[in-house]
Amino acid sequence: MSKKKSLYIYNSLSRKKEFFEPLNPPFVGLYVCGPTVYSDVHLGNVRSFMTFDVVYRYLTYLGYNVRYVRNITDVGHLLDDSDTGDDKIEKRARLEKIEPMEIVQKYTNGFHNTVNQFNLIPPSIEPTATGHIVEQIEMVQRIIKNGLAYEVNGSVYFDVKKYSEEHHYGELSGRKLDELLEQTRDNLEGGDEKKYFADFAIWKKASEETIMKWDSPWGIGVPGWHLECSVMSTKYLGQEFDIHGGGMDLKFPHHECEIAQSVGADGVNPVKYWMHGNMLTVNGTKMSKSLGNSFLPHELISGDHPLLEKGYTPMTVRFFFLQANYKSTVDFSNDALQGAEKGLIKLMNAIKTLSKLISSEKSSIDLNTIITNCNDSMNDDFNTPMTIAHLFDGVKMINSINDGKATISLSDLEKLQEHYNIFVFEILGLLPQNTDSSNDELPSELMNIIIELRKKSKENKDWDTADLIRDELKKLNISIKDTKDSSVWNYEE
Ligand code: ZN
Repeated sequence: MSKKKSLYIYNSLSRKKEFFEPLNPPFVGLYVCGPTVYSDVHLGNVRSFMTFDVVYRYLTYLGYNVRYVRNITDVGHLLDDSDTGDDKIEKRARLEKIEPMEIVQKYTNGFHNTVNQFNLIPPSIEPTATGHIVEQIEMVQRIIKNGLAYEVNGSVYFDVKKYSEEHHYGELSGRKLDELLEQTRDNLEGGDEKKYFADFAIWKKASEETIMKWDSPWGIGVPGWHLECSVMSTKYLGQEFDIHGGGMDLKFPHHECEIAQSVGADGVNPVKYWMHGNMLTVNGTKMSKSLGNSFLPHELISGDHPLLEKGYTPMTVRFFFLQANYKSTVDFSNDALQGAEKGLIKLMNAIKTLSKLISSEKSSIDLNTIITNCNDSMNDDFNTPMTIAHLFDGVKMINSINDGKATISLSDLEKLQEHYNIFVFEILGLLPQNTDSSNDELPSELMNIIIELRKKSKENKDWDTADLIRDELKKLNISIKDTKDSSVWNYEE
């Protein structure tokens, strides 16, 4: 059976689900816009990268040879996403009084630590914008040569008006130039250099104070933000590649500009399937720093935030995110998080039960429906909430076998165990957790060690240590009662 024949992906470009046919099977090229490393990665980013982690995992499960490229934006991301303002990294460097590259290193390390916690598989290639300046300059030159960019005072702008004569600027985002003009009318600073309001910088002259800057045919400057992704995606995945992903907020202008640049430079629309993940909300409101309702990944884990009743393990958060479709918003609330926590424990406990089930001669259960349903839901544009629902159908089955209400044959049992291993751990990327039951075991094991130490001190007539242990435990509301040849402990009411 070939698993890969039935995957459908929602393509943001055509705005419909399309049958997935890679350009050069079994090779699949996957490019995802990575973080701008000037501050801690926020939860919305973690969710977006997790979406593509599951895409990568599932494509790999289907047998494709996936090259997964996720970049690091370490220069050229301008403060207000227009063509004016300071580079975010340099601004942060001035604030913290360190080198821009120290900022880049610090937040790249932080980003890696965070995504490791959430069990994201590292990409095959993680290129940086500063490592690809030469290629970016070359791309600007190709666009100029094709008559679709112009130089003004050491900066180079993409000529959107000219491009629009033959191409559809706005094909991905659905934005129309005349509507955009309305919206940007009061925001034309820096526009004096541009011939047309929608033109965007692909090379920007650097000011005296700029630290990270490079020589170019147009003088000392920095590449425009959108350019790096056009360059790095096609350098490593080919002029045309399969999937380009990112958060919905990147659709415009970032991804729209990427298409225009590639078409402008090489005459090729580079991406076959565009995928966009949705945003996070908190109690129904958009999560944003300015509203004070955003929290960082480590705050969610520790619970150290006014909006959080407690902390949640990274796997609870992962499970919580995957319970929503990547195209839908995810709404944070304490209730929803606690629901996810319970759900994950239930699932993990069922997997533990599954490992201990005893097989019978014959199966009284229908295994194939569950397996087919899980595959079908993942094939339906990576529908993780539906997949999880089907895994819970199986949890009922597992529990009824355990209760003796149903039976399973040895070969079916092995099939079911393999199915849960693949779907829960390999595809959804969850890790076995210290669920409630194993947590319950830990304190008693620790107490056994403490009681053993106290016994040893008594044998050595070290009464002070023995009393110290008893008194300190009492402060924790744990009482120790000495019996004839051992001790028992209990929580005090
Ligand atoms: Zn990008």
